[in-house]
This record gives sequence, C-alpha cells and structure tokens, in this order.
Amino acid sequence: MPKHRLSQHTKIFIGLAAGVALGLVCNAFFSDYPELDWLLRNVIAPFGQIFLRIIFMAVIPLIFSALALGVAELGDVRQLGRIGAKTLAITLLLTGVSVFIGMTLVNTVRPGEGLSDTERQSLMSTISTSTVQTAVQRAGEAKSIVQTLLDIIPKNPLADAVGAFDETYRGGGILALMFFSLFVGLALTLARSERTVVFEQWLQGLYDVVMKIIGVAMKLAPYGVAALVFTVTARLGMDVVVLLGKFVLVVIGGLLIQFFITYSLVLRLAVGVSPWKFFARLEEVIITAFSTSSSNVTLPTALRVTEEKLHVPSRISRFVLTLGSTANQNGTALYEGVVVLFLAQFFGVNLTLAQQATVVLAAVLAGIGTAGVPGGSLPVIVLVLQSVGVPGEAIGVIFGVDRILDMSRTVLNVTGDITAAMWVAKSEGVELKLE
Ligand code: ASP
Repeated sequence: MPKHRLSQHTKIFIGLAAGVALGLVCNAFFSDYPELDWLLRNVIAPFGQIFLRIIFMAVIPLIFSALALGVAELGDVRQLGRIGAKTLAITLLLTGVSVFIGMTLVNTVRPGEGLSDTERQSLMSTISTSTVQTAVQRAGEAKSIVQTLLDIIPKNPLADAVGAFDETYRGGGILALMFFSLFVGLALTLARSERTVVFEQWLQGLYDVVMKIIGVAMKLAPYGVAALVFTVTARLGMDVVVLLGKFVLVVIGGLLIQFFITYSLVLRLAVGVSPWKFFARLEEVIITAFSTSSSNVTLPTALRVTEEKLHVPSRISRFVLTLGSTANQNGTALYEGVVVLFLAQFFGVNLTLAQQATVVLAAVLAGIGTAGVPGGSLPVIVLVLQSVGVPGEAIGVIFGVDRILDMSRTVLNVTGDITAAMWVAKSEGVELKLE
C-alpha cells in the first residue's frame, strides 16, 4: 500500500485546528487548575517560542540579503526608482482604504458606547496592571516627525539591527536596517566589477543559507503553531471575546472587508487574476501569519509562496515583500484607528474632526512604522491615545483580546504585501497566470 504523506501545509493546518480545539476545551474545563497554568508556562508556551525564535534569528540576515539582492537584481537605478515609487503608492492606497473602512465601521457601530455598566466595570478592573504599565512605558517619549524620519537613515546599521525587535529602542530599528540594505544593493548596482560579483554571490549564499534555516524551523511548524494557538486559547477562552464582542466584531468585520473586497477588487481589476485562486494558494502564509502574529516571521514563507505558487519574479517579490513586512501593514493601520476611537467612545472623550484626522494620519503612519512582531502596535496605540487626550492606560481595556486580533490583523498585513507584489509585477509587464 502506498504510504500516505500529508503535505506540509495540511500538517500545519491540523496543528492550528488541534491547538485551537484543545485550548478551548482546556479553558472550559481546567482553567481553575494550577497544573494547566504550569504546563502553559513551562512547557507549551516555551515550545512555541522555540519555533518563533529559530525564525526570528534568521530575519535580520534575511532582510539584509533579500533587499540588497532585490535591488541589485533590478539592475538599474531607474527601474529601482519606478518600482519603489509604485510600491509606495500602492502601500499608501491600500493602507488608506483599510483605515477608512475601520474608521467608518467604528463611527457607525460605536462599539465603545454599547457596553452595560457591569461590562464596563469588569473591563475597568483589568486596567493598570503591570503589563499595561510596561506598554505605557514602552511607548516612551514621543519623537518629533523630523527625528523619526531622520532615524530611518542609520548612523550605525548594526545598532539598528540589534534594536530591531525591541520596542523600547528609540532609533530607526528595522526601517533603518532596510534603508541600509537598500543602499548596499544600490551601491552594488553602481559599482559592478569582478570583485563586487563575488560579494553578490556571497549575498546569494547568505540568502540561501537563511532560507534553509527557516526551512528547518518550518519542519517544526505544525507543532509550533499548535503550541502558540493553544497558549492563547487556553488562557483566553471566549469570555473576554464575548465581553468586548462588538469591538471584536468591528475589527474582524473591517479586516474581512479589506481582505475579501478590497484585495479581490485589486486582484480582479488591476492584476487580472481570480481572487479565489489567489487566496487558495496563500493557505500556508495565512496560517503562519495567524499563528505567529508576526509579519517578519511570516516573511520567508510569504517569499517562497509568492515566487513558487504565484510566479512573481524574485526581483520584485524580494523588494516588495521585504519592505512590506514592516512598511505595508493594512491590518495594523485599521486596528489602530478602530482601537483609538473605541477607547475614546468608552471613556466618553469626544474627538473633534481635527483629532479624528490626527488618528487617521497616525494610523496610516503606524501601518508604515510598526515593527512586524507580535504586539508591535501596542506602544504606537498608547502614543496616539495620549495625543488625542485619552489616557494611555486605557489600552488595558482591550488587552484581553489583543492577541486574537493581532493574529487576525497580521494575516491582513501579509496578504496586503503579496497583493501589492502582484500588482507591481503586473504593472511591470509580468504575465501572471494562476492555473
Ligand atoms: N503583529 C503585527 C505584525 O507583525 C504588528 C501589530 O499590529 O502588532 O504584522
């Protein structure tokens, strides 16, 4: 009898489903048992972390080699300028639409006002815990816009690489590292010689090695994914989700509209491919984004799937996806806008039109500047809250559901990058067929 082998993405899907189901069962029946807490803290959560960390450790060299090579492969500066400008325009368009959808929903449904007194009380009691304080601290001092922009050009790219995943780091972080990598790629294009060819091959070698490391980590993926989602669902259960029901529905509803309507329209009208075939090929990417809550961790899977299953040439996918993993976060932008307005409603703060405009702008910028790591948006939300006169600690109200929504918005962040890559490829005359 032939041995039946499950494909990797089927295994990951089984891991995801098993993690969710077991987590909910454990939450329902054993949430009072200290053993469950012990198991989560000492066995299951760390196992999930092993999987995440192996990928995380490869992300910095991946970003460096993918971007530098991506630019070098484009070959000439004019092409780089054109593709860069298109990527930026598409990013702003998709992010803008996303924020608009979220703001419209939250202004229509007004989820912050519909809560009963008991619900309000029980949510308020969660505020001002130590986690909230850390988030407020992490937000730190707001930097001026000029400084923020200046920090994108690194003084010391190594320092920015070191601070890339640290929310307390006040420099340019991952955006600065990307700037450096783009510059290296550009210089490589301009200084073509026998010696730089060796360097380019070295970069390609680094890229291949890093992808291999990630390939090994992905072998762990079915178990890692199960452990990560089990930890969330076993801790959370459905209680908080129900309590913040309307808010959760507004966020998820907005994400779904962007996913199924905006992306479908772009794919159908601008790219000319069937959205359903596109979504079906993204299964592995979607599961990885959902379970890891990190665009950066999902980047290698996104690169592979975009090149192998969607046939986008690597010179375009490396550039658009790598930049997009930090700079094009549609889900995060939508979420930030919704959260800030929700909390303003919750605390009865009436936002003027100018303040709402500040929120929109901040949300769009947050989509560009937020690190693609779990919970990356939280410090930014605190900053925006404070800037419109809502206490930063208010974020405690939504902490309970943040992880679930983080998982969901990350799916959108990554899908948005791939949609953008398809669009750029199409506009560059690439024939895209999804048979
Ligand atoms: N977790 C998100 C991402 O990596 C960022 C965030 O919204 O917190 O894409």
